Amino acid sequence: MGYTEPVPNALMKALAFETSARPLDRKLLVAKTAAQGREVLRTLAASGTSWIGWDIATLRMLAHALAADDLARRGLMLIDEFTSMRLVDEAIEEVAGAGGATIARAMRQPGFRDSLQRALRVLREADAEPGTEHADLVDAAVAVKRAYERRLRERGYADRATVLRAGVEALRSQQAALPAEFVYVVPMMVHYAEAELLRAILERPNTFVLESDPVIGLARPRAGVGFRDAGIASTTAFLHAPLQAGSADGDEVRVTVYAAATPHDEVREALRRVMSGNIPWDQVELVATDARVYGAAVYATCQRLGIPLTMSTGLDLSRTRVGRAVHGYLRWVRDSYPSEAMRVMLEAGDVAPRDPPGISGARLAQRLRRLRIGWGRDRYERVIEKALRASLEAAGPADNREPHEAESTRTREQNELRALRELFRDILRSAPDAPSRLSGRDARGTPAAIATGLLAFLRHVPPADEADQLVRERLEQRLQRARAELTAETSWEAAFARIERVVRMDVAMPTADDARSWTSQPGRLHFSDVSGGGYTGRPHTFILGLDATRVGITAFDDPILTDDVRKSMSARGVAIPSSAELLAERRYEIAALAARLRNHVSFSFAAWDASDGRAVPPASEMLQALRLIRRDESLSYSDLHAELGRLASAVPTGSGLLDAGDVWLNAIVTPDGVMRDAREAVLRAYGNLARGIEADRIRSGTELTGYHGLITRDAPEPIRVYSATQLETLGTCPRRFFYRYLLRIEPPETYDFDPEVWLDPLERGSLLHKAYELTLAGARERGIDYADPAFATFAHDTLESVIRGWRDRVPPPGEAAYTRERALLHEDFEIFIGSIREQRPDWLHLEFEFGRTRPFEIETTAGPMRLRGAIDRVDRLEDGRLRVIDYKTGSRRGYWKRWPFAGGRRIQHVVYTAVATRLLGEDVADMEYQFPTRKGQNGRVRYRTEALQTPETALGRLLRVAKGNFFPATEDANDCMWCDFRNVCGVKMKWGRPVSRPAEWTYNIGRMRDEFAAFRNIRDADG
Ligand code: SF4
Repeated sequence: MGYTEPVPNALMKALAFETSARPLDRKLLVAKTAAQGREVLRTLAASGTSWIGWDIATLRMLAHALAADDLARRGLMLIDEFTSMRLVDEAIEEVAGAGGATIARAMRQPGFRDSLQRALRVLREADAEPGTEHADLVDAAVAVKRAYERRLRERGYADRATVLRAGVEALRSQQAALPAEFVYVVPMMVHYAEAELLRAILERPNTFVLESDPVIGLARPRAGVGFRDAGIASTTAFLHAPLQAGSADGDEVRVTVYAAATPHDEVREALRRVMSGNIPWDQVELVATDARVYGAAVYATCQRLGIPLTMSTGLDLSRTRVGRAVHGYLRWVRDSYPSEAMRVMLEAGDVAPRDPPGISGARLAQRLRRLRIGWGRDRYERVIEKALRASLEAAGPADNREPHEAESTRTREQNELRALRELFRDILRSAPDAPSRLSGRDARGTPAAIATGLLAFLRHVPPADEADQLVRERLEQRLQRARAELTAETSWEAAFARIERVVRMDVAMPTADDARSWTSQPGRLHFSDVSGGGYTGRPHTFILGLDATRVGITAFDDPILTDDVRKSMSARGVAIPSSAELLAERRYEIAALAARLRNHVSFSFAAWDASDGRAVPPASEMLQALRLIRRDESLSYSDLHAELGRLASAVPTGSGLLDAGDVWLNAIVTPDGVMRDAREAVLRAYGNLARGIEADRIRSGTELTGYHGLITRDAPEPIRVYSATQLETLGTCPRRFFYRYLLRIEPPETYDFDPEVWLDPLERGSLLHKAYELTLAGARERGIDYADPAFATFAHDTLESVIRGWRDRVPPPGEAAYTRERALLHEDFEIFIGSIREQRPDWLHLEFEFGRTRPFEIETTAGPMRLRGAIDRVDRLEDGRLRVIDYKTGSRRGYWKRWPFAGGRRIQHVVYTAVATRLLGEDVADMEYQFPTRKGQNGRVRYRTEALQTPETALGRLLRVAKGNFFPATEDANDCMWCDFRNVCGVKMKWGRPVSRPAEWTYNIGRMRDEFAAFRNIRDADG
């Protein structure tokens, strides 16, 4: 048998027979979907029988054709899915508005809305209503149905149910005829109006359900209208009657079973078995009970392994580039426009400015991160404009960049900011008014507004390939329909859920020879679901997902049309299936699938549900498959588990190896599952891993190397400009200084949404510093005495206006967090006010800048050093001398009177004292750290100038290390506690304390070395 030649089952034989019997007649094949019909005819053609003379239709297509004249006569207009959605939404709003509060609330919940829509479809197509004896929700569903139907009537619309019923009527009254002389139906399960239409079709002459493989041992469900069993049954037709299988003279089918740990492993195991059997991909079909979960796993695995694939179920939109971008956008809108979400999309290339400015997405993402936008639709343009203005100004005192460096990055900054401005201007102009993150419960909106925003966003999603373009076109068509139809205002959540439904779509798989395909193709593995599977005639089929949950009854949970409601409707003669009947249909469909397969069928399931974290039992089909293999009905689940043995997992057990991971694990793991020592082999194969391990070995050794901070220089250290912060970083940990200021590594700024927190400690400190400065300056300007009650009023007013400005810059997560933090800031400010009243400072300078416009240089024992920064306050004392003040808004920890340098970690006092002395030309009595907050307990730590070492000595010690070639890690792991480079250094937390290997190395080995002398000198600064 050539590998492209299908193995015929009963249906294919019947089809071939009818084709040969009526070669010249026009014949219509009615299938569940057009793709299924094409698949059947494709298989017929591949078997050598021409399909000339055949047309394909679905029941819906036939209904449209049959009802067309009648609808035209009645002046009814056919509506699509979107107009129908609009009418449903209007009906829901009407009923919710008229009902009680509980019903109204339930009806506006997106989940309930979906259930309601499903129930409405059933009731419309069954053309029935439940009785009045049921719960409020059922009454509400009936009320929605009536409101919806009233709208249909008033507006002269015909929906799908109307068309199906009109088709039945037209056929039975013979006002319309079937569009072909001979009509053949592929057996299918149908309900309600579709079932009625199928019955009406089969009442006409020359209409037949094609003969198909029988299902032995299961009663045929009501939904199987007009099935005709073939006389001979293959082995798998006896799945539910295994003892009878031995006596059959139909085709012998080989049956196998296996179990895997997860759906992903189950798919991989199927592919491994194909590989080990040396079977061409186009002889294999994978059929899954859960097309969404298994489809995703199959697609991802085939993409990674380069296995050509077709999918009768199509591909979930979210697996495509444009689908990923759409979901990213919806998340962005739903979460109130967090800039972090947009940063991720920019970085991934899912969104980009329309006119590419020659700047990479990664750079734009970095620029966006630095803007600290946080979240909120209105903030983007404002913050970007502000940043653009700031980039035109000279650098401020907090800017540690060299002036020439700041200048050289200015143009780049501006280009990036302009590109972001263009991008967001366009996207945000059309974006919907999303409610704020914490106050959105009662917000309202329209699906149309969200669709409009999404359409504008799509203009900025770069095209990936031609196939992506086709997906985009289809998506845009749907969004345009949603924009036109779904304009009724509803709860924000419901509006959002509507759009999520609009974009929840499957798209045809792209293939090389045919841009889009829903059918199998030569050379490709094929994936399908239970109802569409088994029509390719392929000799190897894997039925995946046969676990109790996926096959079982939970799939039919219906909160509105519950089993009780269905039973009472059934009792009144309405043909509505109960959940038990639906389960029976499901089992029958799986059995019918097995019966139509030939040659080899594999049954499998995944035993672990990772999302729920629990074991999942096999469906009874797995046990039946084993009973069929052994022709023994007495086998139990224990026998099944014994047969299945070890679960298929990441470790392959057979000879089929899919990828490098399989090859490695196959070589490393023994047949008993024991991992061998493969260290040498792995390291030989993975050079980077080997280098990492070698680096780790060297780092722990005694030899001083680059891994320990030893560097070589091409040229002597230039005269740099230092700030007190830089010098304190150097004195704390030279390695941190090296990373941050010599390598210029900037830690990424990420903003996690915390509904409880508005300002981080840095922002809070800056805000208070600003308020301190403006209060003192403003009070003097207005002549307000510190003791005057007006001073306190003025101080709080000043703080309030600073807080308002900050709110504009850093949006609070919600009113509650803002109100709480604002109150705490005012509490802290009371402490500042009290401190000022006590000190009554005669201040000379506030925010006294140095080293910015004119270099400030100081001669040290290690050479000249340039300094830059700003002193918070300089006071004139009663004796005429000066006092330098620095505010701290954190705790007093680390500021000791008798240990002024804290082992080299404090140097601000020396720097500021030296600066004030030299630039102001006056005697500086002392320097004082003030802590005017609750956290700082209004403390003050004062250092007399004569008690500090001379700047020449103190700064010289630091400069010697900065100019040297050795930047060791600190020897004290406590220094690592708040360091930005903890991940880089591999610092771990244990019992709330940092454990730092670099610090341990310095303590145990590094500090004994001669090269450590310069840094030891810093640590010994306190004597
Ligand atoms: S984590 Fe510790 S050792 Fe590493 S740079 Fe920071 S302070 Fe230094």
